[in-house]
Amino acid sequence: MKKQKVAPLDNKSRALKSELAMIAGIMEGSPDAIGVAVVRLECGCRKMAALDKKGDPASKVVAYRDGADSICAKCKEDNGAFHRVTEAFIDWDKEDLDEAVKREIEIKVLGSQPPTQ
Ligand SMILES: [Zn+2]
Repeated sequence: MKKQKVAPLDNKSRALKSELAMIAGIMEGSPDAIGVAVVRLECGCRKMAALDKKGDPASKVVAYRDGADSICAKCKEDNGAFHRVTEAFIDWDKEDLDEAVKREIEIKVLGSQPPTQ
């Protein structure tokens, strides 16, 4: 995997209300998870996956679309391609985690995200 620089995540990268229920559900089903990676796509679909303390996936990737039965046609086609990602961040379950550890996982998990627009 290529390493790329990551723009620092600012505090605007927080889960929306509509995402929180989904995150809670993923956390519930993933006992090893310490947080959930959230990827927002320009079409309005979302991808999420729980992470363990090493930054490895602790759940399957969940793709969904608010208020719809399924993700959009485009996502079905390209599986939520990188260049259509508008935002990616991690919603931490345990806020007492070491900042350095969080940062390391963010880089590992989100390191290949496109620059913030
Ligand atoms: Zn979509």
